[in-house]
Amino acid sequence: MNRTDSQNSEHRKQIVQLLRRHGISPTVQRIKIASTMLAQPQHLSADQVLKLTNQTGRPVSKATVYNSLGLFARKGLIRELFVDQERAFYDSSTHPHHHYYDRDTQEIRDIDEGAIKLELGTPPPDGCEISGVEVVIHIRRTSAS
Ligand SMILES: [Zn+2]
Repeated sequence: MNRTDSQNSEHRKQIVQLLRRHGISPTVQRIKIASTMLAQPQHLSADQVLKLTNQTGRPVSKATVYNSLGLFARKGLIRELFVDQERAFYDSSTHPHHHYYDRDTQEIRDIDEGAIKLELGTPPPDGCEISGVEVVIHIRRTSAS
């Protein structure tokens, strides 16, 4: 076994543990999809995950990729982002933070949680409390740039 193989097998072991910790049974396809999604801090659409996942090895079906991403998000392994009605995006970072969304380039950038000060003019309805705030700021290119 060369060095790359042993690094790959260590990486695979970590993904398997991560899936188990989130209550997800680690099938071959799920390991492959999770490896793509968690390779680095990133925001990817389901189609981008499909394309990247299928660059190597045995192809995974579109339905499996979509279903697995939904499952990962429900289990808290990744975060589903509601920035665009046309397509689902997923975030490999699950800590609380906000986003810029460029509709022209479909680029998503992080905004630190503390960078947005929210002033709420009305309290939550009786018997409710705020469980989380997710801000998406839509941006577009100015003609000057
Ligand atoms: Zn993010």
